[in-house]
Amino acid sequence: MKPNADERPARVFPQWLRPTYYFSRLHDVSPQWLQSQSLAGLLIDLDSTLKPYRQATVAPEVLAWIRSVQAAGIRLCIVSNGGRGRVGATARELGLPFLARALKPLPWRCRQGIRLLNVEPSAVAMLGDQLFADVWAGWWAGIRTILVTPLDPEQEPFVTRWKRGLEGWWLKRLGVMPVSVTESGSGAESLAAVGEAASSLSPSRELPDE
Ligand SMILES: [Mg+2]
Repeated sequence: MKPNADERPARVFPQWLRPTYYFSRLHDVSPQWLQSQSLAGLLIDLDSTLKPYRQATVAPEVLAWIRSVQAAGIRLCIVSNGGRGRVGATARELGLPFLARALKPLPWRCRQGIRLLNVEPSAVAMLGDQLFADVWAGWWAGIRTILVTPLDPEQEPFVTRWKRGLEGWWLKRLGVMPVSVTESGSGAESLAAVGEAASSLSPSRELPDE
């Protein structure tokens, strides 16, 4: 008997386009949840993940998220496809190490980032907003991946916006939707509230193995 449409995606879709975890917002990736997954290091994309594409600085709530993750003992490194000058300026402002011109989905900068964090690869995840860059690169580097929905995707270049359509189609075929720990949220809730919700609810969906 032929598998029905709901059963097919797990078999036909390749692992390199399958995020390990999928969140609707960066804030939902709480320090408590990261610790519960035994994650001690994060490689983080910059554009559309920590800040909208055309903005130079991150929002105060994103900065608060970064500090809360660091306070939990989780090491961070920005891994971006952007140029050294632009990425470096934001990274220095945040006080974070960075690797620019990463050429994701190629895995080299991710591997370099893992060494820079000095954390076991099994305890590192690549966190970003693009399937065809961040998730693919993380998979290629042999680490877990966390996909988040992009910040202000309308600010992105045409090619990236075009890829969004393809990403949406792909995720739909995978049968996954981002899971939010808060049902109604503008992204401005206090981190304490989000953390509390994260500890009482299941904050993410870990995608099943094939
Ligand atoms: Mg990005």
